[in-house]
Amino acid sequence: MSFFESAGVISKGRVILDGGYNNMGNIWKGHLDKVVPYKPGKPIEEVKREFGLKKIIKLASNESPFPPSPEVLKAIKSSASRVNRYPDGGCYYLRTALAKKLGVGGENIVFGNGSDEIIILALHALVGPGDEVVVADPTFQIYHIASMVKGAKLKIVPCKDYRYDIEKMAKAITSRTKAVFIANPDNPSGTYVDREALGSFLKKVPENVMVFLDEAYYEFASGGTYPETMGYIRSGRKNVIVARTFSKAYSLAGLRVGYGIAQKDIAEVLNKVREPFNVNLVAQEAALAALGDEAYMKRSVKAIKSEMKRFYRFFDSMGISYVESRTNFILVNVRRDSTALFGDLIKRGIIIRDMASWGLPGHIRVNAGLKEENDLFFNVFADIMSNRKK
Ligand SMILES: *Cc1c(COP(=O)(O)O)cnc(C)c1O
Repeated sequence: MSFFESAGVISKGRVILDGGYNNMGNIWKGHLDKVVPYKPGKPIEEVKREFGLKKIIKLASNESPFPPSPEVLKAIKSSASRVNRYPDGGCYYLRTALAKKLGVGGENIVFGNGSDEIIILALHALVGPGDEVVVADPTFQIYHIASMVKGAKLKIVPCKDYRYDIEKMAKAITSRTKAVFIANPDNPSGTYVDREALGSFLKKVPENVMVFLDEAYYEFASGGTYPETMGYIRSGRKNVIVARTFSKAYSLAGLRVGYGIAQKDIAEVLNKVREPFNVNLVAQEAALAALGDEAYMKRSVKAIKSEMKRFYRFFDSMGISYVESRTNFILVNVRRDSTALFGDLIKRGIIIRDMASWGLPGHIRVNAGLKEENDLFFNVFADIMSNRKK
């Protein structure tokens, strides 16, 4: 028997395709009709072309305004000449260094093409049509989109005063729930679920429901009452996946390296569903070098935190309310047409994020850039606001 016969795809020379084949006009899975693709922040080059501008300031995608550390740049240059080879599919050196830093085993880590891929791998391995996924709203939209792609049913729990309503999320779990997503801190609000609230939430979640803790902003958030979740991994907690990334504090958004940390058996399942070479060779060596220069990352985080304080003072001085954030971005309630404001800012070369399409009309999200970029934002923003007053 051929492979295809034993797999049930071909039976006595006849091809059997399972599912989804309605007619020649519509061969795609029907539930994809409802999926709306993720709309990223406008790229700098696109704005340059569209508005004929030379200088653009992008404060829209929560990237680091700082280039990667010089050590990382060296690693990128030296790895470039070796890209004729496939990367190490197991990310051995990066895995070893990261496991040591986190105080977990190498077998507890799964790497992704950005931490977005860890979200997708988890859903790929966990959910199918009819399963339920509990998510907040508004929050990071990849959870909703990737769940819908899998045909899962979303149980959406609205945020309350820009915070996760974690008790309601626990109550939204049913016997069909496979996963709960918690962005901690949250994007776009920047608020976080503290150690105590997370601890009591986890006590309520059944063991067969996976809790996905998205800690993309961990390096900005850690300290105080922010939960240190590696303890859950070390103590053998069976239903937690923690995701972190090199995209934000480590200045590597463009290279795409993220990772999940979980029990060994979970990491093994996620490894089954990933592409064998999902983290490219340059990215692996750059991330390893970034780990080797923690001092650079810490200086970046410190500088960004001090710029965040300037944003608070600026909005305070304007009498504009915002949500205090444990990240590198701020959700601002501008109390006027945020889409028009976005348009006015972009004409003057400043890209921010209009939150109207995230279900927060009248709000923008802006991330801290370089000091001089932020100064320009303050000036232009104040100018636009004063012209709009009648
Ligand atoms: C930016 C971000 C991510 C991750 O991005 P990657 O670049 O894919 O690692 C994940 N979650 C949240 C909430 C984010 O804001």
